[in-house]
Amino acid sequence: MSWRRSREGWRLTWRNHEFERGSPVHLPEPTCGAMLTYYCPSCWSELREDLAECPNCGFDVAAYKQAPYEEKLLRAAFHPIPSIRAMAISILGRIGSAQAVPILERIVREEKQDIYVLLEAVQALARIEDPAGENMLLAATQHPFPVVQRRAKELVEWRRHRTG
Ligand SMILES: [Zn+2]
Repeated sequence: MSWRRSREGWRLTWRNHEFERGSPVHLPEPTCGAMLTYYCPSCWSELREDLAECPNCGFDVAAYKQAPYEEKLLRAAFHPIPSIRAMAISILGRIGSAQAVPILERIVREEKQDIYVLLEAVQALARIEDPAGENMLLAATQHPFPVVQRRAKELVEWRRHRTG
């Protein structure tokens, strides 16, 4: 079975002769990304992949595709899919992104549900050399979630040994 584009639209062909005799089967255009969901990197509404601009907020998606990797990561720190968020946060920590610090601070202060994202944010703060980030890491040792507190305390120790 294969798809072929014709003037009439997309055609499904299967063992060619079966459809050549009769009229072609018209189906809506197949979208290979139908199983994947794309989001606007600004307002996070669902988006068709081929759009150059977000219909909801007007964000220039086409220009965004050319944006530096770090900028994409900074936005992905608020991605609606938690595993993507966590991954973006982790990479920001590994590349030592100073620009990520205010975002990480915000996550540590405001995130109330996703422990995994919180732990990644605390870990990233520990990796980035930045005084504000260091203060936030210290503040996280008093975080309302004990698991975050514990991780922050370990990371404060880890930093001390690493720099001392
Ligand atoms: Zn948008």
